[in-house]
Amino acid sequence: MYTTTRVALTITAGGVVLVGSEVSLTDWTTHSSVFPIFEKRAAGEGGTEDQPFRWLIPSLSPTRSCLHGVHLTPTASSRVAAFDLDGTIIKDERRVMKKVNEVEWEWWKAVVPQKLKEVHNSGYSIVLISNQNLKPAGLVGWKKKISIIAAAIPELPFRIFAATAKDGHRKPMPGMWFELERIFAEDGITIDKSTSYYVGDAAGRSDDFASTDRKFAINVGVQFYTPEEYFLEIPPAPYTLPGFHVSTLEKGKSWSPSSTYTLYQPPKVVLFVGPPCLGKSTFYRTHFAPAGYVHVNQDTLGSRLKCVKAAEEALVAGKSCVIDNTNRDVQTRKYYLDIAKRFQVPARCFVFQGSTELSWHNNLYRAYARPASVIAREPARALVPYAAIVGFADAYKAPSVKEGFTKVLDIPWVFEGSEEERRHWNMWLQIDGK
Ligand SMILES: [Mg+2]
Repeated sequence: MYTTTRVALTITAGGVVLVGSEVSLTDWTTHSSVFPIFEKRAAGEGGTEDQPFRWLIPSLSPTRSCLHGVHLTPTASSRVAAFDLDGTIIKDERRVMKKVNEVEWEWWKAVVPQKLKEVHNSGYSIVLISNQNLKPAGLVGWKKKISIIAAAIPELPFRIFAATAKDGHRKPMPGMWFELERIFAEDGITIDKSTSYYVGDAAGRSDDFASTDRKFAINVGVQFYTPEEYFLEIPPAPYTLPGFHVSTLEKGKSWSPSSTYTLYQPPKVVLFVGPPCLGKSTFYRTHFAPAGYVHVNQDTLGSRLKCVKAAEEALVAGKSCVIDNTNRDVQTRKYYLDIAKRFQVPARCFVFQGSTELSWHNNLYRAYARPASVIAREPARALVPYAAIVGFADAYKAPSVKEGFTKVLDIPWVFEGSEEERRHWNMWLQIDGK
């Protein structure tokens, strides 16, 4: 029986030293004839006799923001028992004790280590999946703490991921789960989501600080349990999932040119209006590039002056052009309307419809949550700063035919992509409520 929990341990150059602990280390030995920490371990990426727990180098993610550690030699199983750390496996000191840099810790409940051992013995891979948005100095102490926790469960192989930045690896983003899938696939193991599960305390209940863990489980498609449900067999409590989800959007209808509007001759100016990340450039590629329209875009050309010049050059050459910028106010649009007037060609305005939340969601999806198949074939997309998206909304003036357009059309948002892409776009993607 694992009675206690408060463990005061310190790390020395020679290894872990226990200080006044009643705990677990000795309790585990009752199940084994030798002190398990000194047992021979199989070769592999896992720990050694000297270092049963170690952090692997390099860390994961494009910016190496995701720490990855192993205790002993965890093997890949199709059945995964995944756990949040703070508030689930151990008490959440950040909230309870406010000692982020200390290596002190307690099991969340005394039953935790025994339960983990049982689950491991029944053939599950134990994986810890944790958000740790700590400063570098705090992370040093935290990484030590993990090896101390591992030493308290010396026979239990496990793997741990820790997201240290606000990126695609931070829960509820699915990045850490995808790393797990990739690592297991290298061993020829496909995770069985119908028997795998994830346990976490950020579950959207009335007293929870967040719903991140429940959203993470929904995103990756495995069963979710709270620590109370899983370890204590307490019935599920009510919960809510706040934040933006695409299921709240009305279904838009894809645009196609009407019989009265031909995309071809005579030359025209088409002005796009809308916040970043609402599919303007994709819309250009789908509808206007095949019809020979010149693409005028400030992100690629670098300045408004160059955009104005490119539009003029297109018309001089007898070509149509699309001004694919956010074009948020009357003054910005006037630069291009003046050109159309000078060349006596019609100017149409396409207004891309969608909320700030949707723009930000699409932005998060593109930067952090695209499927691996898309990442392999398309270039990386940098995250557009939140201020750029909010800034558009603040300065936005809806366009009108009075400005000089022959017509102003609304373009509803429609997600276009494969089923796999849609599944990823359907995920909860906000990080820390944004
Ligand atoms: Mg937690």
